Amino acid sequence: MVVPEQRNVGFAKKVAAIIFTLFFAATRVFISTSLAEDGAITTKQSATLWKAGVAKVVITPEKSVWLAGYGSRRAPDGKLHDLWMKALALEDQNGHRAVLITSDFQGVPREMSDLVFEQVKLKHGLDRSQIMFTFSHNHCGPRLGNDLVDYYPVDAEQVQLVAEYTSLMVKRTVDLVGQSLANLAPATLSLGEGRATFAVNRRNNREADVPSMIERGIPFVGPVDHSVPVLKVTRPDGTLEAILFGYACHPTTLSFLTWCGDYPGFAQLELEQSHPGSTAMFVNTCGGDQNPLPRRSVELCQRYGHMLAVGVEEALAQPLTPVTTGLRTAFEIVDLSYLKTVTREELDVFAKDNNAIRARWAARLLKQLDDGEVFSTSYPYPVHAWRLGKEMLVIGQGAETVVDYAIRFKGEFGPGTWVCGYVDDMISYIPSRRVWDEGGYEGGSNLYEYGRPALRWSGDVEDRIAQSVKKLVKQVRD
Ligand SMILES: [Zn+2]
Repeated sequence: MVVPEQRNVGFAKKVAAIIFTLFFAATRVFISTSLAEDGAITTKQSATLWKAGVAKVVITPEKSVWLAGYGSRRAPDGKLHDLWMKALALEDQNGHRAVLITSDFQGVPREMSDLVFEQVKLKHGLDRSQIMFTFSHNHCGPRLGNDLVDYYPVDAEQVQLVAEYTSLMVKRTVDLVGQSLANLAPATLSLGEGRATFAVNRRNNREADVPSMIERGIPFVGPVDHSVPVLKVTRPDGTLEAILFGYACHPTTLSFLTWCGDYPGFAQLELEQSHPGSTAMFVNTCGGDQNPLPRRSVELCQRYGHMLAVGVEEALAQPLTPVTTGLRTAFEIVDLSYLKTVTREELDVFAKDNNAIRARWAARLLKQLDDGEVFSTSYPYPVHAWRLGKEMLVIGQGAETVVDYAIRFKGEFGPGTWVCGYVDDMISYIPSRRVWDEGGYEGGSNLYEYGRPALRWSGDVEDRIAQSVKKLVKQVRD
């Protein structure tokens, strides 16, 4: 705060300035007054309508937990850089709180996040609407719990290591949330948007064709979301505390055996190096059908990380939109129906399949039927809406949402809307109606890969999700 030189100020002005200051301090707005050369008072509204708290913790496994996401035996051979989990706690003027967790995990299963939500409620008093547990979907991150359980060869030692690591991560996540809440302190929030262009719609462009398309200047086709939404968190003294940013793309540049955060990891490192003392946090928006192409080299991965960091810096260099006060949060579980649950007769055939994933899946489900289990005909799908001021709306959706969701909801709810996939639960791909109609990998019969007791979603998943989002957004906006 600048201490004003008082000698040119009349007594009345001094009193007025003191009253003014006390008034705003009482309403948690800090005003710093300074005197211009000619003695006129200028006011600089520095903070704040918000409190923010940031915490981070390393999550790189210390034991040989396999790398996740490609469905094979992938024991780690070292690390390029550490894996991180980070939390941003926010509190508005009325004391309403929310915590956003970002992480370098590939996929957080419901069995894990439910334990986190339960303990966060007990220890920190946050209900389910007040916490979003996001994961970047990093394929150079570790296995967790029963996520993609049939993807990997069965290995008793690995089962044990994954279970131990998952328990440790539950505890670490709950502690991280507590730390972020303990760190709550006055802050200003502001919004911006940059761009990065390395995500390619992988359904509409064959990966093998990509290098020659680039060489020949042939444009890529299919929907993409190249926006880079940015939320800047600043302390009253101007210190940059946190940079939250998003992008819609699979972190699958690399498929090797070395721990790293893939392109989001490199982007966060670069931003934290350019802004010492700040914490950079990444959310995967709706990148279910988007790949970083071409790929498979560390050099490309670093390049995409750099492109994303540049997109963030471009946003920060523009005039940002201040986020005014008021935090509202809403949450619900929507039942998404399967087209048809799988039968014992079908499983008997699949158990003899050449496809190892499908065979393991069928064997596991047959055992469940033998044990008297009845398959559920739907899956409980988490949907969130958070409103920050009048300027920012965060929609949080479970699983691998395709880019159509981001395009649709940003269109429906306007500027300042973030649509985050990969929230709370990995589940499977979540096709839009368009992608479901087209079929193919993200829209077709892929649910066995994720261990669900069905092959396809029902055709109305987009409708059901959109109805829920509409309802929750109305709740937080009214
Ligand atoms: Zn994926």
